[in-house]
Parts: sequence; structure tokens; C-alpha cells
Amino acid sequence: MRKKIIAGNWKMNMTPSEAKALCETLKPLVAGSSADIVFCVPAIDIVPVVEAVRGTNIRVGGENLYFEDKGAYTGEISADMLKDAGAEYVIIGHSERRGYFAESDADINKKLKKALEKGLNPIVCCGESLEQREQGICFDWIRMQLKIAFDGISKEDAEKVVIAYEPIWAIGTGKTASADQAEEVCAAIRELISELYGAKTAECIRIQYGGSMNAGNCRELLGKPNIDGGLIGGASLKAEFGEIANSGR
Ligand code: PEP
Repeated sequence: MRKKIIAGNWKMNMTPSEAKALCETLKPLVAGSSADIVFCVPAIDIVPVVEAVRGTNIRVGGENLYFEDKGAYTGEISADMLKDAGAEYVIIGHSERRGYFAESDADINKKLKKALEKGLNPIVCCGESLEQREQGICFDWIRMQLKIAFDGISKEDAEKVVIAYEPIWAIGTGKTASADQAEEVCAAIRELISELYGAKTAECIRIQYGGSMNAGNCRELLGKPNIDGGLIGGASLKAEFGEIANSGR
């Protein structure tokens, strides 16, 4: 039985003082959750958030990392920096990073390798645009994204990865994929993992859905057999996140 994982993606929101206040609001609301709870926060918020959630069931993650260890990469953050600051997770390949910052599938593969080498738990994002869905290439697109992301990753490491299926047309738009649409793609992702690594790895890898998940739709989405959690943007900044965190109970 896979443990659910409910992760917030704060994106570029919350100053350090706002972040601390949000933690105080959310801590009691997620305390009883039976899922793994992760706050993925802006780099500058990692230290204060780690401090604010110490001793609770909340784990902290970064929203990105660079694949080099150190050096002249102005503005980037390394896996060692994330770890030393207390982050245990990291989002890799979010569609906003692919879109606004031109991250390629090859970059994502290098970032995934670095995160695993350094002992961070990666949340690797994939997902199609509306145009791709309408063209009927959704599955081909996601298979390509994930085949490149997992290239050269061992079976043992693959089992540590969380995959987030996030249709781009559903992110921040208020348009959620129906539970059946989300389940169909998550099942296809599990099938791909089975092809790449075998049935045992496919059975244990966790696959989240992300895209306008909220307190109203989370139960149906999280009730699907191949959806093992959520990656939540907008609703992760509100008390509503507590309802999502507890919806699996
Ligand atoms: C996200 O940023 O990963 C996301 C799913 O955002 P939202 O929940 O706001 O659609």
C-alpha cells in the first residue's frame, strides 16, 4: 500500500516572515494527516520554514535545484545547499520552469541524477499542454518526458522518485482534470514505469496529480487507485491545504 504524499508548491509567494506565519496557520491543520506532508517553498524561505516546522509531521522541499555542485552559476541553488538548509525534497521540472526558464528534458535528467546522488527526494513533474491533449499526443508526450528524465537512473533510485502528473492546462487555471482523466494518465505512467523497471517498481512508485486541486475535488482525485497524492499550488497557501491533507483519512 503506497502512502499518500500531499505537497504544497508555494511558487514565488511568501516572504520569510509571511512564510513563518503560514506555517503557524497550517501546522495544526495538517497534524493529524496520515499522508506525507511536504511544503516546497522558495529558496529564501527554506531555513525559516524548516525552523518553524521542526518537530512536526511537515517535511520541507525546494522548488528547483541546479545539477552542478558549486561554482559560477549566479542565482542557482545546489543540492548541498538545499540539504544543509534542511530541505528533504525538491521539485524538478515543474512546467513553469520548463516554460519560463527553458528547462529541457535533458536538464531535468541531470537534476534528477544530482538530487538522487545527494539524497534528496525528487518530485519530478510531467504534463501536456491543452494543444497536445487535443492533438492526441498526451501519452506520447508524457512518455517522452519521463523516459528522458529517468534515463540512466537505476531501479533502486527510481523507487525513491515521486512523479507529479500536472496537465499544464489545469495549473493555476481553476480547470481541474476530471478524476477519470487524471487516473487514466497516472495509470499510463505506472505502466511506463513497469516497462522501464518492472512491476515491483511500478507498484511502489508514488504518482501525484497536480492542477487546481482543492478541498472540493481532492477526495475524488485521491480516491483513484493510481493517484497517490497531490502537488498543490494555489490551495497550498491557504487553510484549505489542511482539508486536502486530511482528505485521505
Ligand atoms: C502547481 O503549481 O504545481 C499546481 C498544481 O498549481 P495549482 O494547484 O495552483 O494549479
